[in-house]
Amino acid sequence: MSPTCDVLIIGAGWSGISAAEQITQSGLRCQVVEKGRGPGGRCATRRHNDWRFDHGAQYFTARTQEFDQALRDWEKQGLVSRWDPEIKVVGQRPSALDSNQKQQMTRWVGVGGNNSVLRHMSEPLNVHYQTRVEALCRDQGIWFVTMSSAQGERIVTASTIILTAPPSQSAELVGPNHSLYETLSSHRMHSAWAVLIAFDAPVILDYDAAFINEGPLSWVCRQSAKPGHAGEAWVLHASPDWSDQHIDAPAETIGPQLYQAWLEVSQGLPPSPSYRQAHRWRFAQSVSPLDVGYLHDSESDLWVAGDWCRGDRVEGAWLSGRAAAKALTS
Ligand SMILES: Cc1cc2nc3c(=O)[nH]c(=O)nc-3n(C[C@H](O)[C@H](O)[C@H](O)COP(=O)(O)OP(=O)(O)OC[C@H]3O[C@@H](n4cnc5c(N)ncnc54)[C@H](O)[C@@H]3O)c2cc1C
Repeated sequence: MSPTCDVLIIGAGWSGISAAEQITQSGLRCQVVEKGRGPGGRCATRRHNDWRFDHGAQYFTARTQEFDQALRDWEKQGLVSRWDPEIKVVGQRPSALDSNQKQQMTRWVGVGGNNSVLRHMSEPLNVHYQTRVEALCRDQGIWFVTMSSAQGERIVTASTIILTAPPSQSAELVGPNHSLYETLSSHRMHSAWAVLIAFDAPVILDYDAAFINEGPLSWVCRQSAKPGHAGEAWVLHASPDWSDQHIDAPAETIGPQLYQAWLEVSQGLPPSPSYRQAHRWRFAQSVSPLDVGYLHDSESDLWVAGDWCRGDRVEGAWLSGRAAAKALTS
């Protein structure tokens, strides 16, 4: 029996799309399956009316020359832009990265939303959105992948799988008998609450973004301070510790709490916003990221990539996906 595709990639975030780009270029038949409506994953952009909210990753930084060069290439294509907002630092939490170090980084953002690069990269790729992988089963050297979408359930076959879902979700898919199960299931991720806020009138504050190192918040950011965003839209992030403690709270209780926390550290905000929506990121950032690049089980031809395999963040996800694809195609 010949499988439907050579490589099936689960997830259209930075690691999945960067792997798919490399594998497709190598000539292998590659399919990406994504449960969300578009590419991005934790680097998503949500729209409401004219407002756009980057409610996951806020900006990109480059610690490697490879990613720095990629950002410069995307800048030439008009996909990303350097971002130098007025950033304030409020308070000092001991665990917070030194604020001077944060101030000195070159920050990049997507033009029109932080998923701009992934939207562009994914255009020529074979990506199936709103399709969830439900189960994986390997039989006689072939992967049988059960997936569900609005059209119902179907099975696709593949020689090789690349998993880029968060580690505990990937563990559930491979099952307890797989050699990578223990590594996947034991890897801890912090959660994160994000609140999307918009006002009908301009808000006068002496900053466009702030690292908040006290109380429940860790970050607030004016979206219209980024290129291609309109209106008075803001994203608030709760700290990892606060988010972990409140992750199972009802979403409608989170918005008022985090807005109140913002009021307490900022003068000049109206008593309530025109729009407020909380978003729960159950698996936001690795507690202790690995530096292995990717994981591989040669017996079952299964690869695992993701930010948590390569030092965290968007750069790590991009590097991890590419490293797995390079090793797979070499
Ligand atoms: C609140 C927050 C703030 C952040 N801020 C920053 C920042 O400022 N800078 C920075 O560099 N990074 C930041 N990050 C981290 C950054 O977003 C991630 O490192 C990066 O986006 C991870 O990409 P990934 O491809 O590894 O994983 P993901 O983006 O999680 O992609 C995995 C994909 O798999 C899909 N998926 C999962 N299970 C299935 C399934 N069964 N079937 C089909 N599809 C499935 C998911 O829908 C998802 O799209 C932030 C993250 C969060 C949550």
